[in-house]
Amino acid sequence: MEYRRLGGSGIKVSALSLGSWVTYGTQVDIDSAAATLKKAHELGVNFFDNAEVYAGGESERIMGAALRKLNLRRGSWLVSTKLYWGLHDGPNEKNTLNRKRLLEGIDGSLERLGLPYVDLLFCHRADPETPMEELVWTMHDIVASGKATYWGTSEWSAEQIREAWEIADRRNLRKPVMDQPQYNLFTRNKVEREFARLYDGIGLGLTTWSPLASGILSGKYAQGIPEGSRMTLKGFEWLKERVKPEYVAAAAKLGVIAQEIGVTTAQLALAWTVSNPRVSTVITGASKPEQLVENMKAIDILPRLDAKLKARIEEATAGVNDLH
Ligand code: NDP
Repeated sequence: MEYRRLGGSGIKVSALSLGSWVTYGTQVDIDSAAATLKKAHELGVNFFDNAEVYAGGESERIMGAALRKLNLRRGSWLVSTKLYWGLHDGPNEKNTLNRKRLLEGIDGSLERLGLPYVDLLFCHRADPETPMEELVWTMHDIVASGKATYWGTSEWSAEQIREAWEIADRRNLRKPVMDQPQYNLFTRNKVEREFARLYDGIGLGLTTWSPLASGILSGKYAQGIPEGSRMTLKGFEWLKERVKPEYVAAAAKLGVIAQEIGVTTAQLALAWTVSNPRVSTVITGASKPEQLVENMKAIDILPRLDAKLKARIEEATAGVNDLH
């Protein structure tokens, strides 16, 4: 495994990490979560991603129970959670980052995880209503209280991240360290263009999500939607819209290159995301331990990903990505 500094912070994250979205609470129970987390940890993964909203809080409960079961040394792994959507309706509890919600939210997450602190705490989306000053002070207070070690954002615009960073800088508060954007061969604009000035400018780190575009970049949607796959799950019907014919066709082209060099399509797509040096960690997802084992081997392909091979991979997905 390779370890990278999370932006300008002192902490190092494994270049491949593991998240619980969709899977925990629907496809994965405590025992299978423990088996996959154990395997991931043995393969060098040191970061496990979670969020309050995943499976309505159940994902944090499952991950917390699985980690307790494994009893891994706390210093050897990092865990995150994210706040924004909330678990209840109500003007102060849903789609908000107001101070009251954030303070109550982190306490709820820690209780469900059964932990005294998380390593990374994300504002899961930007909140146009809560004043940025209130938000930055609150994230600072949470970090200062020891309930989170670092804070960051997810899917914020470059402008919003810079605004938060500048408030923290001016007031001598804890600064946001990382953003969590989507990054894969179809969704590239934010990471490669919009955020370009933030990497050296404020030392932004990235924990990127959906490297396989929810599994499409494994190539397995070539013959329609496979039984038991994410797109067949109750409650995730909306994801089917993402299985666009042009995406499936691009994944098939990628498959030809993968076969030529003796790797799987998923491994090639993952290796491509890891090959961007601005990415601190690529958060993978797995509904089965076999997927995790397959996906972690993407690291071994990195030395072979030269400019020529990268150009071929990018050519396979040209015209269907968001770099217009
Ligand atoms: P991916 O795009 O990699 O999709 C993972 C899914 O693809 C798996 O659950 C599995 O689904 C399928 N899959 C994985 N590997 C293979 C393989 N080798 N062969 C065939 N199918 C495979 O990542 P996710 O969308 O799960 O995102 C990763 C993590 O990122 C999440 O767990 C979460 O922590 C984070 N995230 C953050 C978001 C944010 O807003 N900040 C949003 C979304 C995710 P199946 O077997 O069911 O088909």
